[in-house]
This record gives sequence, structure tokens and C-alpha cells, in this order.
Amino acid sequence: MTTWHVLGAGSLGILWASRLARAGLPVQLILRNPDRLSDYRNAGGLRLTENGQTHLYRIPAELAQADTPIRRLLVACKAYDAENAVAQVASRFAASCETLLLQNGLGSQQAVASRWPAARCLFVSSTEGAYRQNGFHATFAGQGQNWLGDPNDSTAPAWLEDLVSASIPHRWTTDILGRLWHKLALNCAINPLTVLHDCRNGELRAHPQALDALCDELAALLVANGYPELAAGLAEDVRRVIEATAANYSSMYQDVHAGRRTEITYLLGHACSTAALIGLKVPHLDGLHRRLQTLLDRRGLPRD
Ligand code: NAP
Repeated sequence: MTTWHVLGAGSLGILWASRLARAGLPVQLILRNPDRLSDYRNAGGLRLTENGQTHLYRIPAELAQADTPIRRLLVACKAYDAENAVAQVASRFAASCETLLLQNGLGSQQAVASRWPAARCLFVSSTEGAYRQNGFHATFAGQGQNWLGDPNDSTAPAWLEDLVSASIPHRWTTDILGRLWHKLALNCAINPLTVLHDCRNGELRAHPQALDALCDELAALLVANGYPELAAGLAEDVRRVIEATAANYSSMYQDVHAGRRTEITYLLGHACSTAALIGLKVPHLDGLHRRLQTLLDRRGLPRD
């Protein structure tokens, strides 16, 4: 059986590693530094709370410098950490190594795929939700789906069976980039506005003109990237998400309010930089990006 190396034991890393381990699959955590490894050993394992019940999973952990080969790597870091984290373990890649990239947005996956072309890179778009309580304890907060795909190879890997046995919901898609672009466009229309207006998703109903202007530009960007069918339904999809999540605070809102770095470069930043690259004018998206960066500056958070 191939070992699942899980790089990063945050919310999603804990969620994935715990489910794989309890299905009896071999899992190995890779932690950031000796302090985190020592904290982990003191904690005695990973804790996952689901439906009010908490279980402990005593999964082995190591540092990047360990010397066993890596055949399958689940990258569970934030988008801004992914490439550097993979660089720390890349010398251990076996010839047939595969990576699964859980990052939100776009840009970090392409950076990893182009820097290590010999490793097969699967991109994952997840709608599951988990949050970290503290240390190595996460709560599974929202059922969802994990879409997996490889932009360069439409063949599904045989080890998807591991996800079946671990009861990790998943679907293979031959258009993972379309999935990620669609999620990115929804995020760009909703999340930055919730930060700037300091509001829940539902309160964006009070800003229809701003939403329409952003949706028009995002739809043009989707068309330019080859997704006219996603563009046609975007404004309606944005309204549906706002209604379905009206009482929620967006993930970007939560990051900013908790004083955490956002993934802005891989979301709104990626939309703006892609538009600039292809010569598409997106003044509303650019303006939103600047206003968001100013707000991040004021709060002392990284603007990238
Ligand atoms: P998170 O809770 O912040 O976890 C990220 C983990 O990566 C942290 O534990 C961090 O370590 C670790 N890390 C960073 N650099 C590392 C390195 N060099 N070596 C080892 N570990 C390293 O983030 P998350 O919420 O799981 O999100 C991960 C990705 O999934 C993001 O792109 C996010 O947008 C996406 N996503 C999340 C959810 C969700 O519900 N959470 C849902 C869908 C998509 P430290 O603990 O030492 O800082």
C-alpha cells in the first residue's frame, strides 16, 4: 500500500489524514519544524470532531528532512505556502510521485506543477469545510464534495479506491481548471465585498450594482479562458450562493477578522493578473483589489 504523506496538519490536513488513517491506510504527517513536531508529540496525535464526537488518531509525524521516499503527497498548506513547502520535500520524490494540491484559488497549483514536471499533479477543488480549534484539533464543519482532476491527463488514478474506503467524498473531473475558475469567480464576486462592507454574505443583497459590475467582468474573464457556459450562469450562481450562505461570514472575512493572512493573490489577485496578461480591461476588479489591499495595509496584514 502506498503511504499518504500529508504536508501540513491544519484544518484540511487533519480532516484528510484522520479519515485516511481510520480506514487503515498508511499515513505520515510532515510538519513544519522541530517545535511543531514536539507540540504534536505532546498532543499525542490528531483530533477530529465530527457530529459532536471527538476521536484521536495517532498518526506518525516527521520533518521534511526525513529520508524515506515519497510516492503520494497531499499538500494541505495555504496557497501562499504550498510551493515552498513542496520544495522542502521534493528531493524525496520517488520517480512515480503524485501530488494532490488542496489549495483554493489558482496559481499555486501551476507553480508546483511547472517546477516539478516529473511529478503528476492532481488539483483538488474542495467544498468541504473544517476549522482548527487549536494545535492539532480540527472540527469537520461542512459536508461537501472534492473534485479531483489533472489538467494534463484525463485518466483517473486507481488509488481513488483509497478515498472510497476512507469515505472521503470525491468525483473525478476532466475539467478541474473549469471547476477552480468557477469557484474563483464566485469568491471574487462575494468575499472581497464582504470584507470591505464588513458584513455577512446575505448583506451583499444591498449592493446589486457592485455585484453586477463585478459579475460582468468576471464573466468576460471566464469567456476569455474558454468557459462561456460558466460565464453565462455566473450572475445567477453568485445570487444563489449569497442566498444559500446569507447568514455566513466569508472565509476571507473570517481571515481578516482573525488577523490571518488571506489568499488574495490566488483569488482576486489571480483574476486581475490573468486579465492584465491577456489585455482584458477589468476596472471594477482592479479597483476592488486596490481597496482590499489598502484595507489589509491598514490592518497590518500582508497585501499578497
Ligand atoms: P490551515 O488550517 O492554515 O493549515 C495549513 C497548514 O499548513 C498549517 O498547519 C501550517 O503549519 C502548514 N504548513 C505551512 N507551511 C508548511 C511547511 N513548510 N511544512 C509543513 N506544514 C506547513 O489551512 P486550511 O484551512 O487547512 O487550508 C488549506 C488550503 O485548503 C487553503 O488553500 C484553503 O483555502 C483550502 N480550503 C480550506 C477549506 C477549509 O474548510 N479549511 C475548505 C476548502 C479549501 P502551522 O500549523 O505550523 O502553521
